[in-house]
Amino acid sequence: MRRRSGKKDHGGLGTRSVWAGEKGKRWEGATQIPVVLSVAFGYDDVNQWLDVAQGKAPGHIYSRNTNPTVAAFEEKVRNLEMAEAATSFSSGMAAISNTLFALLSPGDRVVSVKDTYGGTNKLFIEILPRFGIEAALCDTTNHQAIEGVIGQGCKVVYLESPTNPTIKVVDLGRLASVAHRHGALVVVDNTFATPINQQPLSLGADLVIHSATKFLGGHADALGGVVCGAADLVDRIYHFREITGACLDPMAAYLLLRGMKTLQLRIQRQNESALKIARFLESHRAVVRVFYPGLKSHEHYAIARRQMRGFGGVLSFAIKGGFDSVKSFLPRLRHAHLAANLGAVETVAGPPATTSHVESSKGERAAAGIPEALIRYSVGVEDVEDLIADLSQALDKVRLTNLRSARA
Ligand SMILES: *Cc1c(COP(=O)(O)O)cnc(C)c1O
Repeated sequence: MRRRSGKKDHGGLGTRSVWAGEKGKRWEGATQIPVVLSVAFGYDDVNQWLDVAQGKAPGHIYSRNTNPTVAAFEEKVRNLEMAEAATSFSSGMAAISNTLFALLSPGDRVVSVKDTYGGTNKLFIEILPRFGIEAALCDTTNHQAIEGVIGQGCKVVYLESPTNPTIKVVDLGRLASVAHRHGALVVVDNTFATPINQQPLSLGADLVIHSATKFLGGHADALGGVVCGAADLVDRIYHFREITGACLDPMAAYLLLRGMKTLQLRIQRQNESALKIARFLESHRAVVRVFYPGLKSHEHYAIARRQMRGFGGVLSFAIKGGFDSVKSFLPRLRHAHLAANLGAVETVAGPPATTSHVESSKGERAAAGIPEALIRYSVGVEDVEDLIADLSQALDKVRLTNLRSARA
């Protein structure tokens, strides 16, 4: 676990993306953080060993608990989220499940929304109830209804914004203040926004979670998760994770750290490109609907403008012709991986049925308001003109195919 060192968090988000967590002693003056693969850390003096083990002196004992490379990653995220403390995990789902299990006990109630990440939704509907924890899942965009359910009492309010795959926006400040009035803790999954676009702690959240696998790492080559917030809460979660053993691997921590140096650059580029692409798609005849909070047509454009600095790199859109169109459209994209990932430097596209909602049935997807012909499109850092030309050529062929089959 990393706690604030007492030094100021210097500079803007771009400077901190590069420098936070990077200071400190280095082997032979190396300028880069070393990948420390040592499982244990040795001491010649037993008193010194005891001091470190009891938390009276800084240092490391065993890498399931803390590790120098992992600590540098935690410090970078902690700094960017402007949190008191941070602790990391082997994946985003490890961060989410360990946090919920550390905070909740049998008989407790958690309030959340229907549009959380697929794995999180499974925790709410299948796993937590087995331990006597009730999850009340509300309609994501009905803030009044969510407030009513929070008012019936709960231990934790768990939110995500923007959501996956229909990119809904939740008013975090409004729901955090209602939750606090009723004595509940507020946890926010900030994976889609990243601290560059949105800092939930400044809007009233108690804890912020990331799947670092996505935008934080940004290169689709390492899994990881992280939780940031007040030191007493993060401490509880860290001690739970020490025992469950869902710790981040030092090699993955290094890859995530390296990726994060360009976080602000990447997010700025992805924000700009996604908005241009969303506007292009909105004007295309083969597109039925575009979901992107930077569009004035978005239901919660005003909330997004208030709580976000940028609208993010993920959008989704429904095309004409149902799932058959999706199957012929996707393979025609030249500048996109067809894969179940997002937040990478490469553009990634896919339908909810094989990505965010692979665990859900067709009926469950329909109930969640996900159109069958939806495509989730995570914008990479390619030239936006190339991405628009690519989408354009693939959409034109869908239209031709549809016209031909309509005539036949
Ligand atoms: C991917 C994702 C997760 C899960 O993260 P993993 O690192 O794959 O375990 C959680 N929340 C959101 C919003 C995600 O996109």
